[in-house]
Amino acid sequence: MFRTIKVALPFDQSLAETAVAFNEACQIVLNYGSRHRVYDKSVLNKATYRQARKEVPGLPSALVQTARDEASEMLLRTGFAKVTKKRLSIRYDGRCFKFYPESGYASLTTVLGRINLPFKHYAYMDRWRGECTNAQLVIRGGRVILNVQVKLPDSPFKATGKILGIDRGIRNVAACSDNSFFNSRHLRAVKGRYQFLKRRLQHVGTRSAHHKLGRVSGRERRFVLNTNHCISRSVVNKPFDVFALEKLGIVKKKANGKWLNRRLGSWSYGELQRFIMYKAEAQGKAVVFVNARYTSQRCCRCGFVHRQNRRGLAFHCGNCGFSLDADLNAARNIEVLGKSEYLRLFVNEPIVAPGEASPTGVVDGSCKPPDSLGGS
Ligand SMILES: [Zn+2]
Repeated sequence: MFRTIKVALPFDQSLAETAVAFNEACQIVLNYGSRHRVYDKSVLNKATYRQARKEVPGLPSALVQTARDEASEMLLRTGFAKVTKKRLSIRYDGRCFKFYPESGYASLTTVLGRINLPFKHYAYMDRWRGECTNAQLVIRGGRVILNVQVKLPDSPFKATGKILGIDRGIRNVAACSDNSFFNSRHLRAVKGRYQFLKRRLQHVGTRSAHHKLGRVSGRERRFVLNTNHCISRSVVNKPFDVFALEKLGIVKKKANGKWLNRRLGSWSYGELQRFIMYKAEAQGKAVVFVNARYTSQRCCRCGFVHRQNRRGLAFHCGNCGFSLDADLNAARNIEVLGKSEYLRLFVNEPIVAPGEASPTGVVDGSCKPPDSLGGS
């Protein structure tokens, strides 16, 4: 698995010059690629390498090549559109940078030769010790950030099939099928406060208000980031090893009304999902995705699907009379769907966790008898 170590480096003029030269080399390849509609790296290399070396004489050969790689990927991404690389960034590969977290410095190739730049060492860097295959340097507003990709050994996959269904929503950022909730009341209050403050600052419109707005937005952003880290951490640390989430896209907006949507409609569910995924990966756990359709309308006890089943915050089955918190009911449905998805993806033989075998011993209609299960 890969992790990215992000370090701040002191600003150095040679880095800025290198970034400008890198963009020029990149642009030569981009122009050629969009004109001839090619993104193949070896074709681009043959066609543009000499030109790039001639027109950007200071840029070392290794960086001309990473510029070509980056251009190739941009061409593929944009479908050969005429694009201009504006962002000041440099891509480094193993030949043109070295990263020494224990000594706290990075060695980078620039137009003025190799330079060593110090950075602050943090404890997590000792845990993320591995091969540093590539890095990206970004210069923005006088700040230099180096993102180093580290290859770490994979955690052994230990999924035994204990599945947790997680329903994401507005009232509960996450509701889990083990009856735990991550309530959004506090988040809504804080978000609401920031929104009020931001609206007022926008209204003032002076220069200092504008600066303050930037600071407030930063603070709000970090609040969201931190909360997502905390939620994903406690979800992944639960004694389950497969996490089922509904596919993102449709966050159930209608049922919650305008007021709630405004307060939390822009919560970063995608970020929460990414955090759950990478934290699960680090522990050798798995994440599966299920189709979100009908998860809030289906009764998790009898399977009866009807729109009227859900009434606001409560779920009430029109068939068997079962009542439950609506989000919890959805989470349990996601767990059931997640189980079949997990079986489809990871195992050929269905596994039923001990104690979960239903009286008939059958979950999928194709299950082995309960006595042969569990220990795997
Ligand atoms: Zn029912």
